[in-house]
Amino acid sequence: MDLHIIGPEPTDEERATVDGVLGAATSAWAGGERDLDGEGRIALLAGHEARSMRDRLLPALHAVQERFGWIPQGALTYICRRLTVPPAEAWGVATFYHMFSMAPRPAAVAHVCDDIGCRGKEVDALCRGLEAALGPAGHAAAGAAAGWQRSPCLGQCERGPAVLVTRAGPEPRTLGLARASTSSVLKALSPAPAPEEGFAALRGSVPQAGSPDLRLLGRVGRVDPGDLEAARRDGAWEGFRRAVALGPEGTIREVTASKLMGRGGAAFPTGRKWEAVAKEAARPHWLVCNADESEPGTFKDRILMEGDPFAVLEGMAIAGYATGCEHGFIYIRGEYPLAARRMERAIAAARAAGLLGPDAAGSGVPFDVEIRRGAGAYICGEETALINSIEGMRGEPRNKPPFPVQSGLWGQPTLVNNVETLANIPAILRAGGAKWAGTGTEGSTGPKLFCVSGAVVRPGLYEVPFGRTLGEVLALAGGVAGGRGIRAILVGGAAGTFVGPDRLDMPLTFEGTRAAGASLGSGVLMVFDDTTDLAGVLARIAQFFRDESCGQCVPCRVGTVRQEELIARLRTGAPLGSADEERALFADIAQAMRDASICGLGQTAASAIESAIAVLKPYPVLEAKR
Ligand code: SF4
Repeated sequence: MDLHIIGPEPTDEERATVDGVLGAATSAWAGGERDLDGEGRIALLAGHEARSMRDRLLPALHAVQERFGWIPQGALTYICRRLTVPPAEAWGVATFYHMFSMAPRPAAVAHVCDDIGCRGKEVDALCRGLEAALGPAGHAAAGAAAGWQRSPCLGQCERGPAVLVTRAGPEPRTLGLARASTSSVLKALSPAPAPEEGFAALRGSVPQAGSPDLRLLGRVGRVDPGDLEAARRDGAWEGFRRAVALGPEGTIREVTASKLMGRGGAAFPTGRKWEAVAKEAARPHWLVCNADESEPGTFKDRILMEGDPFAVLEGMAIAGYATGCEHGFIYIRGEYPLAARRMERAIAAARAAGLLGPDAAGSGVPFDVEIRRGAGAYICGEETALINSIEGMRGEPRNKPPFPVQSGLWGQPTLVNNVETLANIPAILRAGGAKWAGTGTEGSTGPKLFCVSGAVVRPGLYEVPFGRTLGEVLALAGGVAGGRGIRAILVGGAAGTFVGPDRLDMPLTFEGTRAAGASLGSGVLMVFDDTTDLAGVLARIAQFFRDESCGQCVPCRVGTVRQEELIARLRTGAPLGSADEERALFADIAQAMRDASICGLGQTAASAIESAIAVLKPYPVLEAKR
């Protein structure tokens, strides 16, 4: 490709930052010294090599953002030269993600969650405090050292108000702050280094921590996530040994016998997916662990990675062994810096111990894992969007079929499993699939994690065997705080369903929620008490989907905007025409998005709002004019 790049040349510092990710440039065609007389316009060297590094685009953008606090044009130009990517395409990728800035901004930025899990008086006070100290959100004064902006859900809903602080420079740092106050945010924005949170802090997020009944959360808050030997004394890599004894086909048989359904939201049978990848003749096969949980109200995968990274790694190693994948990626959402650091250390420790590498844990086959970090895009939790993101493209979903099991990463067979799904695998191999399936119900086997947040006494992550009712899980969390009544419970996240307090007897299983017209989704249970401004919550959900639509298909791109406008009209009591006309218009918009959107985002963007309007009646304007 012959690139004609105009614009500012990169500074030495910008070159060094990009070279730190991509390695030194070896020719003019890979961004090195240009010698057009010598090289002419023929790719004598490195043309193919440069293009084959396209998947380094996202890591290179991360490095530049972390070094400078934004992406200067010179640095973007240099990335384009190094990877032979047209500047318009690189711009399209860089502007796709919330965490990248294309304009200068302060080195230190606080991203304050004002999403449905955190919103309320405390966040309002925090925002007022930051505005007084730093100026309005997103508008720091020229030359200011620090600024702040509002953010969608940061995945810390059990311990809000949540803030993510990014600090750019030669030693960049990213830090998640829980139960944040104005003073703790201002301190975190300062150059003084902040100590990393200890693993025992996770006990605050897992109220059951230490209970002998826990299987998925058994090590969380109890075993140091940085200590491989301690994890092995506690059973880590026993499941992998059992898998090797059974062989790939025997391993898949055990997973199929367990009837494990995917825990990311789609609830597809895991054994069937593994079998489909294993039987594909094309090589290589790729494994992707989807750790991009961004559904508002969801934080279970974050806690698994922070609290027991070895269980996730072991699950990946077993999946790779069974399906013939020699290389795995774990795609971690950009808002999870601590999870990424702990996974990185766990991978290094496992590699040093020979559990990953050319002869993984003595299995006779190679398997290794590489981390990829997201950069703030909810849609990248969709498996084909995630695959595009890893490849260095915009994170836009692909049409299906073909499904990733046949044509995923680089058009090759790819197994995509969620973190919680993979964390179940070692226990399935240790116990045997049939025995493991003895827990739960016929259609929903094993343990399940529920992210309980909102107006309960003990918000946190709870593990229960499938089959408990909604009321039983909320009772584990201490019930509604302050003895107040329940206004609504959001089940499954922003793409899920609102139910009223009359549904506390609903079994939290795939079949139980389906029968009740709800969906388990990613395991979110967010409780709103009778003081909640529910119309305000729905407006925030509508804003979220409008922001997060990738814009690729019309029903979703336009529908999410129309939905937000309609909700704003209802909220302010100013319907367009009669209330009946607004109700009919909303039904039309929801139907068009459901029927004609490419991916699950558009198909479910109206479901929570629709369920709330149907059963909870949050808009007086609709009721008064009936
Ligand atoms: Fe993008 Fe929405 Fe279409 Fe999904 S449904 S591809 S998010 S525009």
